[in-house]
Amino acid sequence: MANISLQHLDKIYDNKVQAVFDFNLEVKDGEFIVLVGPSGCGKSTTLRMVAGLEDISAGKLLLDGKDITSAPAKDRDMAMVFQNYALYGHMTVYENMAFSLTLRKEDPNVIHKKVLAAAEILGLTDQLNKKPKQLSGGQRQRVAMGRAIVRNPKVFLFDEPLSNLDAKLRGATRREILLLHKRMNATMLYVTHDQTEALTLADRIVCMSMGHVQQVGTPLELYDTPANLFVASFIGLPPMNFFNVRMEGDQLEGSFFAYKLTAEQKELLKDYQGRELVLGVRPEDIETGGDIDVQVFSNENLGMSTLVHGRLMGRNTQDAQITCKLRGWCDYKSGDHVNVKFSKCHFFDKETTNAIR
Ligand code: ADP
Repeated sequence: MANISLQHLDKIYDNKVQAVFDFNLEVKDGEFIVLVGPSGCGKSTTLRMVAGLEDISAGKLLLDGKDITSAPAKDRDMAMVFQNYALYGHMTVYENMAFSLTLRKEDPNVIHKKVLAAAEILGLTDQLNKKPKQLSGGQRQRVAMGRAIVRNPKVFLFDEPLSNLDAKLRGATRREILLLHKRMNATMLYVTHDQTEALTLADRIVCMSMGHVQQVGTPLELYDTPANLFVASFIGLPPMNFFNVRMEGDQLEGSFFAYKLTAEQKELLKDYQGRELVLGVRPEDIETGGDIDVQVFSNENLGMSTLVHGRLMGRNTQDAQITCKLRGWCDYKSGDHVNVKFSKCHFFDKETTNAIR
């Protein structure tokens, strides 16, 4: 069992920088939580407060109901995997993995069993006698995970574990972490700035900006119903397109197009009659065949789909950029025109930036 309760956590560093504001989260036993957001938003600080590597300025932290707000890191029964692996270069893989258990003076036979079992899970059985420098980046990261696994901690904490790996290894290692989570059924907290990692790994995502939690939810919830403009622009790749529009009757008038509202959308937006709001459209929710005129800048074939970057053409001279992810293989040339329609729209209040629900 390992559930974690983060209650109203604040972090103010000695230089008076407040890195985290009122962070609240109930992590269920066995849950995979990903903290995601741009660099400097307070993800690592939050993780380090949970690990006991940073003091908690205000708030409470409970592990299985027990208050560990001020408990030293070593008494928290958590293992952290760092971005830079933090392996000992003079020790073999085996010794690196056995290190924390040796320190604790566990029975060498038990240590041996645990190291072999972890090596088996991670596919490192043939590498145990090597030194870290003889390994690839992906293998080193697995040793770092092995070191956490042998301790059989209540909670695994990951701080950007994949950012030193190249794109191909990142994908493979990501899948290994997912398998590891399934096999171990452990509670995991994982920090990344990469929205793809968040969407692919998390049971629930915590999206942060400037020290504040913006939204907590399943990957689908954050993708499908982002709470505000920040989450809408951060989750999803390529990012959502945004247009300033004004509601006039049953249409949204942009500088470049008029979007006819469905009855349901009109009802949703009834308080915005005559007012400005922000219309958001994901590139993958744009299809050919409508009456919105896009002048193509560039055409990028991805195989199953094509990214078309262009400019909206409209009734006045202003222009606006748009990215469309169109199904199939397209061959538009720069300057071509393509007519599109929006198959799904998101609406945001211009002042509060919150989604209109
Ligand atoms: P992230 O992990 O999202 O990149 P961090 O938690 O590392 O963000 O940092 C959040 C904020 O706290 C940043 O503004 C950063 O400069 C500041 N910060 C981080 N560590 C310290 C520290 N030891 N002393 C002072 N400020 C810090």
